[in-house]
Amino acid sequence: MHVIEITPQPCMVCGMGNTPTADGARRQFVDLERDTFWDDPAVLCEDCCLKIAGLMGTPSPEELARADVKIAGLTRELHTLRVEMDSMKRRARRLGIDFLPDEVAEAV
Ligand SMILES: [Zn+2]
Repeated sequence: MHVIEITPQPCMVCGMGNTPTADGARRQFVDLERDTFWDDPAVLCEDCCLKIAGLMGTPSPEELARADVKIAGLTRELHTLRVEMDSMKRRARRLGIDFLPDEVAEAV
């Protein structure tokens, strides 16, 4: 199997060919490197490949985009909390309170 940009044959599931989408984007195709009974190459469009992948539990591009947004938010929140924690540790050290280094604290 390999990805192709221009298909010699429409998608064997939905019939999609090389026509660009309404926004001008071109779909990719997967050549299954097999022939049908009529000796035509077996080709799937990216939409049908994504549907098949979804059946097997692979997240969709929309789910991955939502996860990226969530991870970015959590990363910002983690950074803010670390900055706040460092500030509190500095204030505590001025008051004479010592902390274990992070490596030691994680091992305990
Ligand atoms: Zn298709």
